[in-house]
Amino acid sequence: MWIKKNIAEIKDDIIKEKKDKTVPVLIGVFVFLVVIINTKLGIDKHSSSYFNPITWAELFKCIPLLALLSIAASVATYLYRSYIMKHNFSDYSICIKCEKVYRNKKNVKAENMMICKCGGTVVNLNRVKWVDDENY
Ligand SMILES: [Zn+2]
Repeated sequence: MWIKKNIAEIKDDIIKEKKDKTVPVLIGVFVFLVVIINTKLGIDKHSSSYFNPITWAELFKCIPLLALLSIAASVATYLYRSYIMKHNFSDYSICIKCEKVYRNKKNVKAENMMICKCGGTVVNLNRVKWVDDENY
């Protein structure tokens, strides 16, 4: 049977996702490498020569700024993912009594619960979990 996740379980899901910092870190490293290479080669599409390489000494002077840029990209990714997680609703909802599945209308706040024709509560799929009947 389907039961509604309690607030603690929903928070757990969000915390689990937040703890995973792999993607933001990878984005940060990727941005760092790209800007380093770009700066070193001095890629400039508007210049006649296209490449205007700078010296390593010049590049090292830029590193704090480039690192800051990468960290900003990393933090932005992290915040974006946290936001998505908090607003992560499935396109489908399910009645926890008769298990009828509803397709959510677009632009309808998924958290607004409906009442099914059977009298059961219709809950977003991302907010329910499946448990074996014998446990209940
Ligand atoms: Zn129902």
